[in-house]
Amino acid sequence: MGAETLSFQAEVARLLNIVTHSLYTNKEIFLRELISNASDACDKLRYLALTEPALLDGDATLGIRIEIDKPGRRLAVIDNGIGMNRDDLVQNLGTIAKSGTAAFVEGMAAAKPADMNLIGQFGVGFYSAFMVADRVEVTSRKAGENQGWRWASEGAGSFTVEEAGEVPRGTRIELQLNKEADEFLERARIDRIVKTYSDHIALPITVAAEGAEEKVNSAAAIWARPKADITEQQHREFYHHVGHAFDAPWLTIHQKAEGTIEYTMLLYVPSEKPFDLFDPDRKHKVKLYVRRVFVTDHCEGLVPAWLRFLRGVVDSEDLPLNISRETLQANPIVQKIRNALVRKVLSEIEAKAKQDAESFAKFWDAFGAVLKEGLYEDFEHRDRILKLARFRSTEGDALVTLDDYIGRMKEGQSEIYFMTGEDLGKLKTSPQLEGFKAKGIEVLLLTDPVDDFWTSMVPAYEGKALRSVTRGGIDLGGIKGAKAEPPKEEAAKEGDIATLIAVVKTALGEAVKDVRASDRLTESPVCLVAAEGDMDMRLARLLRQTGRAPEAAARILELNPRHALVKRLAALAAAGGAADQVGEAAHLLFDQARILEGEGPVDPAAFVRRLNEALARNLAA
Ligand code: ADP
Ligand code: MG
Repeated sequence: MGAETLSFQAEVARLLNIVTHSLYTNKEIFLRELISNASDACDKLRYLALTEPALLDGDATLGIRIEIDKPGRRLAVIDNGIGMNRDDLVQNLGTIAKSGTAAFVEGMAAAKPADMNLIGQFGVGFYSAFMVADRVEVTSRKAGENQGWRWASEGAGSFTVEEAGEVPRGTRIELQLNKEADEFLERARIDRIVKTYSDHIALPITVAAEGAEEKVNSAAAIWARPKADITEQQHREFYHHVGHAFDAPWLTIHQKAEGTIEYTMLLYVPSEKPFDLFDPDRKHKVKLYVRRVFVTDHCEGLVPAWLRFLRGVVDSEDLPLNISRETLQANPIVQKIRNALVRKVLSEIEAKAKQDAESFAKFWDAFGAVLKEGLYEDFEHRDRILKLARFRSTEGDALVTLDDYIGRMKEGQSEIYFMTGEDLGKLKTSPQLEGFKAKGIEVLLLTDPVDDFWTSMVPAYEGKALRSVTRGGIDLGGIKGAKAEPPKEEAAKEGDIATLIAVVKTALGEAVKDVRASDRLTESPVCLVAAEGDMDMRLARLLRQTGRAPEAAARILELNPRHALVKRLAALAAAGGAADQVGEAAHLLFDQARILEGEGPVDPAAFVRRLNEALARNLAA
């Protein structure tokens, strides 16, 4: 059978176009990516061979070999790992299943000069070979199969696949180097690259050139080495490898536990947010090893979703090697490791928070929104997470803790007040806060979508109820404000307000649950709040957007009896005979309050008509 020509998936073609047509300063990373793939391939085979030893068929010493052919200007990376058959080649080296490509292409376009270092992070590392090669040939035989296959491409729109007959198990990736890539024919250069980027690979890596072959890495699992022997640089390279990341770790946690269960964990907290942090699957990326053998990077029970930013490995001494991946989650050893891991990670993060507030603020900025998911998913650790949590508030720009907040509570204040919203700027100017500001009562301003969920499920902190200011029923009367309260406008007469409320209720009908006078407003005429038993307004809106709440519950419209406009309307209502005019104004005020909530008028056409009539009247007068 002859060679078959196939087209790259459009995304791959676009990616290759970038890879082959940009200039890079760090071209050598292609080798790290190919070695990383070779190492993954050996890990996969080793795992499968646990239950099917025949897969190793007489070639059980796994390793990676790099061959330099100087006269032929070729460089090959060879492994005897799992290998690929025809379908694997077409699938893995012709399409991109992962969500990362678009993000990668954007990231590349944004980074000037183009930063190829990013490539491994997006699960497309293989294609970096085209930075240095005019042509790439992949010859492979899958473990357990007889037929070998050859994939080849020049990196333009297409590739070929054909049968390759009898070839050794595993994969040989051969690069025909381009004219700018001479340096990669020098043995010393290759040795240095392997040492720099791949020393932590726990398989022997040998380099063969001009008849001489030598092992160049230390080939020991880094986490099994004594803590003190590992340099920061080695940690960084290993973190890059396991985490597909290219920043420096913000925190490194290396612990060997020897007790009823034995395991080693080497975990990293990134300093930058990984691009897929908020992917809906919320999967963690910590790899599970059993006695130095890679088992899986999808062991769901090992790390809770609210710590999914962690990268690294857990290596257990107690799990059976032949355990099926499906039963891992329910395994009691895995659960014990998970509990210990969560406690350890929390205590390390707590220590960082104490040591260096500024650095912790950066961490919180990147991962606080994820950690807060633990507030409703992990009851056991709720208090510790609450203690770590940082918030914006009406008191200046600094991040505050709940303990800071409680320390500043005013005399007579027994609750922690908060408000949620999309945008800090909008929150700060929202009418619901006016009364709090006038009395100098601090309000926490929460802007992460997750804030709506946890605040609806966490009733209190240190015995202080958490309370949304967009709910009715908050009485600020009993709290002694710190500031001298600004002289208040005279309020409208109580009787007049009662009449106005009746007229407004009639005009708005079912659209509101209630209408009442309120002391929470100082500058705005009206605002909307949720009734005490009802769902917080923003949570209701979020749920509606995701189709999970049937209909908006009607709100309470609160009137400011000291506002000039409200006073004028009260007087009009009390004088009688102006019900129509007051009713129209009530609709305008109601819609205005909705707009401030980000919801828009009930009936935009009617709103515009009323507004224009009001303007026309005003201009005519
Ligand atoms: P990633 O390694 O993040 O999955 P790559 O672009 O580096 O992305 O590789 C794509 C896929 O090609 C790998 O996931 C793997 O399935 C396959 N692959 C690449 N190199 C090898 C190899 N040496 N042996 C077996 N499979 C390989
Ligand atoms: Mg890879």
